Amino acid sequence: MSDFQPDEESNVCLNCIPDKHLRAALNGDAAVTHCKYCGKLSAGVSVDDLTKEMRDPLERCLAQGDYLGDHSGYPLGEQKGDSLDCILQDRFGFDDELAADIARLLIDNEVAELRGDEPLFVDGENYEWHVQHVQGESSSAWNDFEWRIKHTSRFFDSQCLMLLEQILGAAGSPEATELPVYLLDSEIAGSSVFRARRTESHDELREVCENTETQLAPHPPCLATAGRMNPRGIVVFYGALSPDVAVSEIRPSVGSAVVVGEFIPQKTFRLLDLPKLAASTKPLPDSIFAPNYFDLANRDAILDDFQSQITKPIQPHDQELDYVPTQAFAEYVGNVLGFDGILYASAQHNEESLSDRETGSNVVIFQDSLWIDQPFRPSLLLAADSVEVVRITAVNYHKVVEPFPDDDWYDRLREPV
Ligand SMILES: [Zn+2]
Repeated sequence: MSDFQPDEESNVCLNCIPDKHLRAALNGDAAVTHCKYCGKLSAGVSVDDLTKEMRDPLERCLAQGDYLGDHSGYPLGEQKGDSLDCILQDRFGFDDELAADIARLLIDNEVAELRGDEPLFVDGENYEWHVQHVQGESSSAWNDFEWRIKHTSRFFDSQCLMLLEQILGAAGSPEATELPVYLLDSEIAGSSVFRARRTESHDELREVCENTETQLAPHPPCLATAGRMNPRGIVVFYGALSPDVAVSEIRPSVGSAVVVGEFIPQKTFRLLDLPKLAASTKPLPDSIFAPNYFDLANRDAILDDFQSQITKPIQPHDQELDYVPTQAFAEYVGNVLGFDGILYASAQHNEESLSDRETGSNVVIFQDSLWIDQPFRPSLLLAADSVEVVRITAVNYHKVVEPFPDDDWYDRLREPV
């Protein structure tokens, strides 16, 4: 322990705390004091209280730097990152003396060892800033959800349910009623849903063209295979809001023929607008000390994780178990929150070439919404004159050159180019 002792002289006025969220959090406890750092008499708090307010967010965002060239488990080289003082100055704008005092208190009052954990704040260590750390934390929330759903309960146990309630709101809650809705209705322009079917041979092409109504419709339950948002035997309708997206989503090969048709809604569909929901958490607040920062970052990363999961192509080596987490998410949206389906972004389409966001989107319509009861008929009707056969003449690939793999190579792949 150092000889630093917080006393009346170690008070800081609110004006010397650059972060407005920290100032707001401490404002209620502030009293007129003599500021050690600017020398003025003004409303302030003890440096100890300031440090207590900062500790938890800092613990969630800072990690001790790796040692360069450390392949053997022994520190051979220089440590990555900066000292706590530097980070407190550079990132939060604290004056150097105040930064040193905060760093001292973070280290001296470290209680991790009392909890049996490795202490984070230690003399002489460098620290790296990990906003990805926050995302890493949330990814682990999604990973945990995946694991529980796959291996402990096929349906929602209390923790999975809690996570879904946290992200989407509980049924009937104000959060759930404020979720962004995308309406599909024949009265609203851009409500058609396109569906494409790949054919591999001349016979198959003719079969599809002669029976478009049944061939372009979803398979009957006995033939329905598992998909990212439906278990085997449960029929859902996967489509797109433009014929181009519908075609690219089925990933046809060059030279193959694709049959694409337009379905007109016969009722109003309420879809969860996932891109809008994911965008609602962005940008994240500018400070880790903002109220709800970590809740928002968590929600943001889980929605991104879910979106990237559902837009992944179905691969022949996939196991049905792989789809269970996204199926559970979809089931919550449909059966608990009462949506007819989900609108989600396409990973296949270059959205810059499209006039607006929606045409670049996919939709999934859940089983219960595929039929209208009275009289019993399909809720999406194929426009007979809309069916087209397209031949795939070329497939575009877009690429960027990446450095050789390091630790977070795949994490960076998620970031927009
Ligand atoms: Zn001051």
